[in-house]
Amino acid sequence: MAKKRLVLTFPPEVVERPVVALMVRDFDIITNILRAEIHEGEIGRMLVELEGNARKLKEGVAYLKDLGVQVEEAITDIELDEALCIECGACTAVCQPGALKIEPPDWGLTLDKDRCILCGFCVDACPLDIISVKF
Ligand code: SF4
Ligand code: SF4
Repeated sequence: MAKKRLVLTFPPEVVERPVVALMVRDFDIITNILRAEIHEGEIGRMLVELEGNARKLKEGVAYLKDLGVQVEEAITDIELDEALCIECGACTAVCQPGALKIEPPDWGLTLDKDRCILCGFCVDACPLDIISVKF
């Protein structure tokens, strides 16, 4: 069995089609959706863990790409330059697991790596580009 952790980006014309469900059915791939942001008529993103026969996994990923889904390897770690942070809260707003928080008493930004699912959404959200990723 092979395993992959991927970020899938769906263009608006694909976002409402059940492409992941069809991939699961047709290629017998166990799919764990760790995070999803899907809105009608907009670009959608999904962080998934796929597990299955190596050949079928490859074919399943190729199937998604053929349908116009952008497929990227998920990150393995994130780094935050806390000294440059202005505590704007943009990253906390997109961090669904609550790994990034701005809380009393000092209202400084904290990152709890044990909660982080490495979706990478905070990286795009930060206006100062002070969150970086490792692949
Ligand atoms: S990558 Fe960023 S947004 Fe995603 S869970 Fe980790 S801290 Fe939160
Ligand atoms: S988005 Fe960037 S500047 Fe704003 S709180 Fe998060 S890390 Fe700090």
